[in-house]
Amino acid sequence: MSMFTAVEMAPRDPILGLNEQFAADSNPNKVNLGVGVYYDDNGKLPLLRCVQAVEEDMIKAPKARGYLPIDGIAAYDEAVKGLVFGAGSEPVKSGRVATIQGIGGTGGLKVGADFLKKLNPKAKVLISNPSWENHRALFTNAGFVVEEYPYYDAAKRGIDFDGMLGALNAAPAGTVVVLHACCHNPTGYDIRADQWDQVVAAVKEKKLVAFLDMAYQGFGYGIQEDGAAIGKFVAAGLSFFVSTSFSKSFSLYGERVGALSVLCEDKEEAGRVLSQLKIAIRTNYSNPPTHGGAVVATVLGSPELRTLWEKELGEMRDRIKLMRHKLVDGLLAAGVKQDMHFITDQIGMFSYSGLNKDQMVRLRQEFGVYGTDTGRMCVAALNSKNIDYVCQSIAKVL
Ligand code: PLP
Repeated sequence: MSMFTAVEMAPRDPILGLNEQFAADSNPNKVNLGVGVYYDDNGKLPLLRCVQAVEEDMIKAPKARGYLPIDGIAAYDEAVKGLVFGAGSEPVKSGRVATIQGIGGTGGLKVGADFLKKLNPKAKVLISNPSWENHRALFTNAGFVVEEYPYYDAAKRGIDFDGMLGALNAAPAGTVVVLHACCHNPTGYDIRADQWDQVVAAVKEKKLVAFLDMAYQGFGYGIQEDGAAIGKFVAAGLSFFVSTSFSKSFSLYGERVGALSVLCEDKEEAGRVLSQLKIAIRTNYSNPPTHGGAVVATVLGSPELRTLWEKELGEMRDRIKLMRHKLVDGLLAAGVKQDMHFITDQIGMFSYSGLNKDQMVRLRQEFGVYGTDTGRMCVAALNSKNIDYVCQSIAKVL
């Protein structure tokens, strides 16, 4: 009898399971739209030119790898504050933002969750229905009871905003509300600016704790535009949490670059909060890795490289939008009678296609087109070579 006899097999990660199925599929036309990754028009994961430029310089002047400070590279944390709140903004200038370099956006969320659990052990967490699959698991593992607020309305093909607001208004004080700052994953539907105002007012009035997950800043409309919700929370005088991910925006998935920022009332408070975030880090992984953070800090700290990054980010954003239009046109050309224009109303990497589980299974089995059973497709994995095939395949299962 082994000490692990009673250990049960954990369920497979649904997306990774899909990737394995895709890898084993012998269909020469197969297309993987199940991923949460941006591919270029050649179906390749891009290595951004700004990243390559920094790495070439690093090779010319190689450096030893010492430990980083617990909260990461200071210039990186400053750059993150600038992106999230605006470089010259009052919260940044007054020093009341506590920012740590995280291990991807996931790491930022986890450090924030651990800190919140200590701060308010009885609080509940609300996530959107549906949400990024890991939100529930991450906050549950941090010890929280996780519930949902209504978000997607399948019948309306949009957002059940009344339901969302109703749930926030009914939540007890101290409830942590996880909000997608932009480019909602998985639905692709974001709330409007005037609806954000109402969310901010509800958070303030009901004394909730906003935790904004910003994994796609720059993938929607632009860096500033996608951060607009943050500005609204600042203007309302609230303290809140923001996790950042550079996985997509720098195409640095495997380097695990992200952050957590906590807006506090003043500089002194930010110092105390930072000291607690550092404890969460120290007792989990001690300090962050060097490479990805150094690359991002260098790009964001150099006017030329930053301009190049914004250009490359804009190219990714525009290509996704082009694919949305091609998808709508292609489906029409393939004989689809339903109105598919909702695809261009959606924003970010994903589209909730409205296809049901049976249709998604048929797409996989008969055509080698892989999306999740929920109907989520990654528009950022479409390209000029696979788009016609995908449209024809969807038309056949609709
Ligand atoms: N939050 C959301 C909404 C995401 O979609 C993702 C990645 O897919 C993450 C967080 C995690 O980002 P990272 O890979 O940087 O940990």
